[in-house]
Amino acid sequence: MLVLTGARVYTPLEVVEPATLIIDRGRIASLRAGRSPRGEDLKGHIVAPGFVDLHVHGYAGYDATSGEPDLLLSLARVLARHGVTAFIPATVTGPHEVLLRAAKAIAEAIKAQGESPDGARILGLELEGPYINPERKGAQNADFIRAPDWDEFLEYWDAARGKIRTITLAPELPGALEFIERASRLGMVVSLGHTNASYEEAKAAIAAGATRATHLFNAMPPLHHRAPGVVAACLESPQVVVELVWDLVHVAPPMLRLAWRLAGSLRTALITDAIAAGGLPDGCYTLGGLAVEVKEGVPRLENGVLAGSTLTMDQAVRNAVAVGVPLREALIMASLAPARACGEPSLGILRPGSQADFVVLDPEELVLKRVYLGGRRLL
Ligand SMILES: [Zn+2]
Repeated sequence: MLVLTGARVYTPLEVVEPATLIIDRGRIASLRAGRSPRGEDLKGHIVAPGFVDLHVHGYAGYDATSGEPDLLLSLARVLARHGVTAFIPATVTGPHEVLLRAAKAIAEAIKAQGESPDGARILGLELEGPYINPERKGAQNADFIRAPDWDEFLEYWDAARGKIRTITLAPELPGALEFIERASRLGMVVSLGHTNASYEEAKAAIAAGATRATHLFNAMPPLHHRAPGVVAACLESPQVVVELVWDLVHVAPPMLRLAWRLAGSLRTALITDAIAAGGLPDGCYTLGGLAVEVKEGVPRLENGVLAGSTLTMDQAVRNAVAVGVPLREALIMASLAPARACGEPSLGILRPGSQADFVVLDPEELVLKRVYLGGRRLL
């Protein structure tokens, strides 16, 4: 049993200060206002749920598309050092064999993690592509973009033993609506992205079961007052959670605030969209077979197109606060909103019975001081 007392705890919906948090067998046993004479004193610190990254391609040299279970486990460990306690590794568009290997690897990595992981919990895989619009490919490799193919997808599904949580696709492609209906029936999240969808096409996809927007604003038509498009359709639909890469590079701060105000904190998920070059020095790397140059921490293809990010979730929270979002709202967008968006009721929230996955931050600079996963201290 672990007792932590004196901190300001964000559940994140409520703020309790000073609070006493009791952890037993990896779960939150109780959370009460007031101090306890026993336990460790965390006075002057913030406690918040561990971060949940819904969209990350890699970090510190570990690539989620590698097809190597060991690399996924290493990725889980390095992400935990940035406060991530659960995440969904994302592939990039690639050849069939590469995606098949990545799908197999995810099932093996999840099995290897078991009940007490030593890194962020791997929740399942996101397939970002290959069923996307080549006109909005962003940094996805055009050689391997194709139309939705349910039979091919089922091969991935079987290889992953059902551990595919999300697929990003363009709903205007032939066969996409039927694909969305089928994928939704499997319990998967269908996310609209790398798309040229009009407002009407996006609304039809949402009616068919899509519930997420992949890095809203990026790799889709901009918000226009006479051509509202996929951005407006996602922002106004209460069942859609919008991902935002909050690195202050992918989206300008006024648009970040605009999207957040329209969707609200519970429908906005901070994501990193980080790539394997994240956490490494500036220089040349590859992503899905394409050359990427990282300059001042920003990865781009040779043609200048942004190629993911080097963002971390703790930095995303600091960035949100830096552009005027209240801390409670930033923490909701980094924990509860993404946990709910992937149907994980015991993650992203600190209440009796939930997983004891949380971070300790200093209240001034919001620097990460500690990370706990299942009640075990990892940092
Ligand atoms: Zn991505």
